[in-house]
Amino acid sequence: MSQRVLYTKPSITELEVSYVTDAARHGWGARCYEYIERFERGFEQHLGVAHAMATSSCTGALHMGLVALGVGPGDEVIVPEITWIASAAPVVHVGAKPVFVDVLPDTWCLDPSRVEAAITPRTRAIIAVHVYGNVCDMAALKAIADRHQLPLIEDAAEALGSQWQGRAAGSIGTFATFSFHGTKTMTTGEGGMFVTQDAALYDRVLTLSNHGRAKGNTRQFWPDMVGFKYKMSNLQAAVGCAQLERLPELIARKRQVFQAYQERLRDLPLRMNPEPDGVVNGYWMPSIVCDAASGVGRDALLQAFAAKDIDGRVFFWPLSSLPMFDACPENTVASDLAERSINLPSYHDMDMADIDRVVAAVRSVF
Ligand SMILES: *Cc1c(COP(=O)(O)O)cnc(C)c1O
Repeated sequence: MSQRVLYTKPSITELEVSYVTDAARHGWGARCYEYIERFERGFEQHLGVAHAMATSSCTGALHMGLVALGVGPGDEVIVPEITWIASAAPVVHVGAKPVFVDVLPDTWCLDPSRVEAAITPRTRAIIAVHVYGNVCDMAALKAIADRHQLPLIEDAAEALGSQWQGRAAGSIGTFATFSFHGTKTMTTGEGGMFVTQDAALYDRVLTLSNHGRAKGNTRQFWPDMVGFKYKMSNLQAAVGCAQLERLPELIARKRQVFQAYQERLRDLPLRMNPEPDGVVNGYWMPSIVCDAASGVGRDALLQAFAAKDIDGRVFFWPLSSLPMFDACPENTVASDLAERSINLPSYHDMDMADIDRVVAAVRSVF
């Protein structure tokens, strides 16, 4: 019996093992921040940004970023309907209201015209999510954010390897956040990164991340404010350093897996992650959206995957359909997409036989 095809798993080599072993043996005392600093400087270089701060998660990075921007009770923050709840939870944690805006049918990312229509005097920020590696229409979103003097935040958790106009996704907005959860393109187990070009914003988040203790403060154990504890450990950063060295290879493999699917599914009535002019897609998660006329939907695909021992992963549920949020029945693109779509398995060590098995399962439904 062949093994179950998982939807994702990390690629861990001797390099990761050797770095984390070194950190476990030597990365204490005076050397307790060495891998963290190396990881942050390396990430800055990879992304082309001035400041990167390793965090315990992407969610924590987003939480601190919102606090540093002064978002709080009574404020509204625009969030796309189609994303993981982690994009919206920190908005709730700071006491603000997530305003869910519909997505475009081709990129599955924020619809700029709907964003503009959703702006009110209470709007304090726009969170653009590059979902499944697809890149948001950053030209339109930047223009809207600038016109209304709003910060444009990039939740780039799924966008390592994605680019817009030659710039890395996550290097464009007021700040961006990344995730190194075990399902993401690179991993540290759990972990994240806060990145920005803005030195003052970086300093505020640095203070927040250290229980409110400002850098250079000479009084020991003296917080100037109530902050957070969302730091990454040196052990995790050691894994991150190895993954960062291998990142070109990790991203290239994501693109190969996507292209293998695309070639094999080309003749079916479905759409996959787009890569429009000026965009490079990191293809974190190859996904299919079945044409409405095909009559094929999520549930039939999930059944076929289960029968062939393949992990099926649903498209994100529209966030406003969850019980703790107010319904937004006007967001019909998102609700329709979720019914007709599914994520396909993709991981570094996936071979062509695995891909063929998934393709056969998709074909069996059509
Ligand atoms: C994974 C993910 C997150 C959360 O990342 P954590 O590191 O688990 O906090 C946030 N946003 C999006 C879009 C994600 O896919």
